[in-house]
Amino acid sequence: MAASETQVSFEIPKKHKAMVYDKPGSISTKIEEIETPEPGPGDVLVKLTHSGVCHSDMGVMENSWVLLPFPTQAGQIGGHEGIGLVVKLGPGSEHGRVKLGDRVGIKWIAYACGACLPCLEGKDGVCFNQKISGYYYPGTFQQYALAPANYVTPIPEDLKSEDAAPMLCAGVTSYSALRKSSAKSGQWVVIAGAGGGLGHLAVQIGSRGMALRIIGVDHGSKESLVKECGAEAFLDINKFDDTTLAEEIKNITGGLGASAVVVCTASNGAYSQALSFLRFGGTLVCVGMPEGESKPIANAYPAAMVGQELTIKGSAVGNQREVLEVLDMAARGIVKTRTRIEKMENLTEVFKEMSEGKMQGRVVLDLR
Ligand SMILES: [Zn+2]
Ligand SMILES: [Zn+2]
Repeated sequence: MAASETQVSFEIPKKHKAMVYDKPGSISTKIEEIETPEPGPGDVLVKLTHSGVCHSDMGVMENSWVLLPFPTQAGQIGGHEGIGLVVKLGPGSEHGRVKLGDRVGIKWIAYACGACLPCLEGKDGVCFNQKISGYYYPGTFQQYALAPANYVTPIPEDLKSEDAAPMLCAGVTSYSALRKSSAKSGQWVVIAGAGGGLGHLAVQIGSRGMALRIIGVDHGSKESLVKECGAEAFLDINKFDDTTLAEEIKNITGGLGASAVVVCTASNGAYSQALSFLRFGGTLVCVGMPEGESKPIANAYPAAMVGQELTIKGSAVGNQREVLEVLDMAARGIVKTRTRIEKMENLTEVFKEMSEGKMQGRVVLDLR
């Protein structure tokens, strides 16, 4: 941990810098000075030092996510992979699980109620009463943010803030999808889109963290990255058609097929191939959000589903416990994101680069 991070300043300014979406619907952000809020009952004030920039932030800014119920408002502060120090406790937070000076994370789900049916089943990532950081709730592209004391995530001491930030969204999403696959150590799992933002984390977590045998599927240019991340086999999608790709997976897996396929890409094509990669009792996990026209999963024939007892599952982000587990893996060096640090003022440029598909790895903003 950097020395500057250990010296907690309890002097809280009246105003702080924030990056806001000034023209939602287009790629545009603006720096503004805003009032630093007082933490209310049950809340803490976090002095943020880092925030990852996620593809979902761009979807919120551009209003291009069909899933979101309302258009983003001008003045919204985005961001949902924030790391910082607790600098003030709201009334009633004095005896909670975090104390002044603790380093904590703020996630996509900024608040979960703890009382609805998903929460009661330990699925707080899909809480019915959720508040989303960076969409209607102020996000982490700012120097100070409020967060519920019982829903911030403690960050392991050995993990650098810039390495912790991407774990709060991309890391936990990849890990939760692998857990939902029900694959056990030693079993084969296909990661479709293995070289992408989620995929390259899923390969590392699956192979090194969960002892799964990973087959990565992606464009040939991603082969060395996917293998470095721990995949035992790599298949270049440009070298196969749907039939030969399924045959090759059967060959690699000793004739049976894979126990699970985790689709991390936005491609409808990847979903239509996936069921043919599975062995009996296998599970397809949907995690990549298809873009453009919405299509059903092709080849989901009831006869095959019945005869082979296949399962199709969806997976959103993970729950609080999974976040803690994936942060622990990151602290132990099992999973690492390729990150690049940028100043917060450069956020518009970062989004432009992302929209042009030129981004390598993940950008983490330095908010200090
Ligand atoms: Zn995200
Ligand atoms: Zn809930």
